[in-house]
Amino acid sequence: MSTMQSLQFLEAGKFAFREVPAPRLQGAGEAIVRPVAASVCDIDRPLIQGTSPWKGPFAFGHEAVAEVVEIGDAVKSVRAGELVAVAWHINCGVCDRCVRGLTAHCRAVPPPAMYGLPVGGEWGGLFDDLVRVPFADAMLRVVPRGIDPIDAVSAGDNLSLGYQIMSGHIASGRTRILVLGSASVGINQVAFATALGATEVVYVDDDAGNREIAAKLGAVAVEGPPDRALGTFDLVVDVAFNAAWLRRAVRMVEPEGIVECLGGYFGDVDLPVFAMYVQGVTLRLGRANNGPYMAPTLATLRAGTVKPSLWSTPFAWSDAPEVLATPTLKPVAVRSR
Ligand SMILES: [Zn+2]
Ligand SMILES: [Zn+2]
Repeated sequence: MSTMQSLQFLEAGKFAFREVPAPRLQGAGEAIVRPVAASVCDIDRPLIQGTSPWKGPFAFGHEAVAEVVEIGDAVKSVRAGELVAVAWHINCGVCDRCVRGLTAHCRAVPPPAMYGLPVGGEWGGLFDDLVRVPFADAMLRVVPRGIDPIDAVSAGDNLSLGYQIMSGHIASGRTRILVLGSASVGINQVAFATALGATEVVYVDDDAGNREIAAKLGAVAVEGPPDRALGTFDLVVDVAFNAAWLRRAVRMVEPEGIVECLGGYFGDVDLPVFAMYVQGVTLRLGRANNGPYMAPTLATLRAGTVKPSLWSTPFAWSDAPEVLATPTLKPVAVRSR
């Protein structure tokens, strides 16, 4: 049996490369890929700090751009040697939920099947040397020539979540937008908001470096907590992982406005539901359904209107155990193809 190196999350702040069995094709619609750029999702941050429900050891990582190594006979959309963005979640692309765009809720696999966490089966992590992709046509998108893997590394997760949220809401006229930020997901939201035509974007974050990036992207960037003096917004996007901020922000919504909460809460959160009822607030929580949004996200990168490498820090693949112990805004492990 052949083996490979797998980056394992062990415990808070601790990672190590371990030798594990290499995956093999198990069906005609599958692919084996080799990640060449990989990064952390913001949901990995509490995991790394040891404050999430998930304890190691397990294969880490669910954001990567990879080279296709091998494909099954039925795979149509990618070929060996091509560079591809990999979806963070395992999805078939053809069940009734996937067809409706709910690819994070695919019926073909145990929920919530994904890379890089011990949930919904054993799928490995995207810092592994080789990764089995069980539904290659649904889960892989070719990275167009000329796009740096560092820019596209999150196209299967955090980055296309920016496209998903902003394209839908801005198209329906929600153009005054408040983003409660904490890390790269907040910056991605700002980047897509300004790229896709928001009229005003306010970004709230206690980190001065993050505020500087958001301001360069066109947002009004202020320290927290979110203050009602900022006005009211058609759309609030919460990625601050801060319940007190969320309680304030749901009171800063225009009548019948929307609050998109992108996760980070592992317990109950008290909210002013009567005030929300009077104002007419739609609060939506949910994981990213990236399937339909990976291709338009890559097209946006190609157009050059969003450039994630501006807020990314590349590093050598072999340094991952040390670098990921205290991650910067967007650390991207890279290795040669
Ligand atoms: Zn993620
Ligand atoms: Zn499905």
